[in-house]
Amino acid sequence: MASVEFKNLTKVYDGDIVGISNLNLIIADKEFVVLLGPSGCGKSTLLRLIAGLEEPESGEIVIDGDVVNNIPSKKRNVAMVFQDYALYPHMSVRENLTFPLKMKNIPRERINELVVKTAELTGLAELLERKPKQLSGGQRQRVALGRAIIREPVVFLFDEPLSNLDFNLRITLRREIAELHKRTGITTIYVTHDQQEALALGDRVGILKDGKLIQYGKPMELYEMPDNLFVAEFIGNPRINLIDVDYNDKGELVIDNERFPVEIPRGALMSKELVMGARAHNMQVSRSATGFERIIFPAVLSRYENQGDAVLLEFTRGNNRLSVKRSSIEKLTPGESYYLSADKKDILLFDRRTGTRIYP
Ligand code: ADP
Ligand code: MG
Repeated sequence: MASVEFKNLTKVYDGDIVGISNLNLIIADKEFVVLLGPSGCGKSTLLRLIAGLEEPESGEIVIDGDVVNNIPSKKRNVAMVFQDYALYPHMSVRENLTFPLKMKNIPRERINELVVKTAELTGLAELLERKPKQLSGGQRQRVALGRAIIREPVVFLFDEPLSNLDFNLRITLRREIAELHKRTGITTIYVTHDQQEALALGDRVGILKDGKLIQYGKPMELYEMPDNLFVAEFIGNPRINLIDVDYNDKGELVIDNERFPVEIPRGALMSKELVMGARAHNMQVSRSATGFERIIFPAVLSRYENQGDAVLLEFTRGNNRLSVKRSSIEKLTPGESYYLSADKKDILLFDRRTGTRIYP
C-alpha cells in the first residue's frame, strides 16, 4: 500500500516534445485516481515515469514517502496493465500468472497460494490450464489483471486497459476493476481518453492537456463546475451546449438582443465577450417565450434521436448546434422553431478569450 506524489515532474522527449509538464499531485494511499485526456496529452508518459520505464527531465516521483527517481523499475513494486494484454501465447493461464514469480525465485508453495488467491479475485479459477487463444477478449484482459495482482504491487497502473474491448465487455470489466480495487485497496492510477470511464471509476479525476494537469477533483465537481472551457467540453455526453453571449454595463447577459440580469462577481469579469455553457439535461423546450425568469432564445429543431430512456433533441441556432435531453417524448417537429431555455442556476459562463469560468 502506498501514496504517490509528483513534485514539479517534467518529461521532455528528443526534439522538445512535451511529455509531462511541471506536474504536482498527491494521490493518497488506497485512492483510485483516473487521469483523463485526449490522445497525446501525456498519459502513457506519466505511467511509464512512475513505473521507471522513462526518466524525468526534472522533478520527483515519491512512492510511499520515498523518492524513487533513482530506483530501478524492477524494484519499484508497481504493476502496469496495458491495452494489449501482451500474454505469452504458448503458456497456459497458470504459467502466464506465475512466470514473473518464478523469475524471482519465489518458493513453489507460496506461488501456488498466490495463484489460488489471484484466480479467485479475477474469476480465472476454471481457466487456469487454458492457453490465451482459448480465451475470450475479456478473459484475456482478466489474465493480464491477474498477472499484475499476483505480484502484490503497492501501486497499480492501468494504461487504457479496456479500449480494445467491445462496449458491453468494457462496462463489465470496468465494474470488475472497481470491485478488485475495493477488495485489495491497492492505490490505483488509471489513464483513459474515455470520459465516461473516468467518471465511473475515479474517486478523483485529473484532466490532462499538453502534459499539464488542467483540473483535479471528484467526478461530479468536474462535470458541474469545470474550471474552463476545455474541461467543460471534454466531460459529459452529449457535449455541453456553448453559446457566445455578451455582457453589458448593466449586469445583463445579452443573447439575440434579449437581456437577462446575471450577477457576475466583480474582478472575475475581464472581458464582455463570454461563452455560456448549459448541459443538455438542464435545457427546456417550449413553443413560446414565456417570461424572462429563465434565459431563453429561439432555435430550430434539426433532428431527434430515441435513446430508450430519453430523447435527444438536436437544435440549430445559426452555426450553433445545441442538444437537449428530455425523459418524456413530446410531439415536436423537425424544421420548426422553438424556444430553448435554462435556469440561471444551471448555466456556466466562461471568458471567451481565456476560457476561464467566471460564473458561478
Ligand atoms: P497519451 O498516452 O496521452 O496518448 P503519450 O504519453 O504517449 O500520450 O505522449 C505524449 C507526447 O509525447 C506526445 O506528443 C507523443 O507524441 C510524445 N511521445 C511519447 N513517447 C515518445 C517518444 N518515445 N519519443 C518522442 N516523443 C514521444
Ligand atoms: Mg497512451
